[in-house]
Amino acid sequence: MTADTLQIEIQPTSQSRLQDVDFNNLVFGRNISDHMFIAEYRGGQWQDLRIVPYGDLSLSPATAALHYGQAIFEGMKAYKNEEGEVLLFRAIDNWKRLNKSAERLCMPSIPEDVFMNGLLELLRLDSGWVPSQPGCSLYIRPYMFATDPYIGVKPSDSYYFIIFTSPVGTYYAKPPRVKVETHFIRAAEGGVGGTKCAGNYAGSLYPAKLAQEEGYDQLIWTDAREHAYIEESGTMNIMFLIDGKLVTPYVSETTLDGITRKSIVEIAKTWGIPVEERRVSVKEIIDAAKDGTLESAFGAGTAVVISPFATIAYEGVDYALPEIKEDSFVNKVKNYLTDLRTGKVEDGFGWMTKV
Ligand SMILES: *Cc1c(COP(=O)(O)O)cnc(C)c1O
Repeated sequence: MTADTLQIEIQPTSQSRLQDVDFNNLVFGRNISDHMFIAEYRGGQWQDLRIVPYGDLSLSPATAALHYGQAIFEGMKAYKNEEGEVLLFRAIDNWKRLNKSAERLCMPSIPEDVFMNGLLELLRLDSGWVPSQPGCSLYIRPYMFATDPYIGVKPSDSYYFIIFTSPVGTYYAKPPRVKVETHFIRAAEGGVGGTKCAGNYAGSLYPAKLAQEEGYDQLIWTDAREHAYIEESGTMNIMFLIDGKLVTPYVSETTLDGITRKSIVEIAKTWGIPVEERRVSVKEIIDAAKDGTLESAFGAGTAVVISPFATIAYEGVDYALPEIKEDSFVNKVKNYLTDLRTGKVEDGFGWMTKV
């Protein structure tokens, strides 16, 4: 399917809900924009590309995704610059990663023009939903799931690909207290931890709930074999500033190749900050926290952008991290990313797309 033959039927809503949204008090995930993009896969083809008012779907109770979990998603954001133009951050990378997830889950790949044209048309139609308030953005949720009404275990022959969007504010109110998990795991070698498949998140809810009952906000996941190496935090990548160096677990089969993470790595390198992407042991982080060389530890992901931790807990001991100073790397890189995404600094990386 090429861009020339790509037909997207657009059915605009007759009842916009935009005026019901309080843009000064956006709660993550609460408001969904007026429209959604849908493409259906049948007979080996993506077809029936359309943008319709956001609303319920009608599905068979036997819908394959609900039983055997062929369901994958992406998360990305759009921003407004001072002229009110809508800007997308590294969207092609999300498209590539969705297809990487699709391959592992035995699902069809999405052609670039279906993903990008669907996304751009949707954003043009719902551009009024992109917030311009500081710290706010339009969260974009592309996802694909199996729709065969069939209860045998096999790769589905039919799929939905949908994109909807949601205006969002900031995610965490205050720096989270995180706990190093040494029993449950998120991912193991040979598994699906490197994909954004729905089941990964279902499996993480119970361990996170237990940690919350102990008074923590989030987990730090460790490797499945020894629980000795750090992988991610919650649904974010994890990064550390140790003695002026940016240290982060390398991307492997068991960690997600986060776009925020890799952007921070690239920015740090252009700033001349030493970057180490490697195995990171729990012991080295706890030692660094004890001897005061751990300047900061933070989660990195689209939803939160950068979330510096207040405390890391390990084997029943809480290690408080230093407060984040105004001129710290964490604040500088966060502000730089915000400026880049809202068009305030020049995009030397070629990461932004104008909608
Ligand atoms: C989505 C996600 C991330 C962050 O990826 P970004 O591209 O930066 O949003 C990290 N870890 C997990 C498990 C994720 O699902």
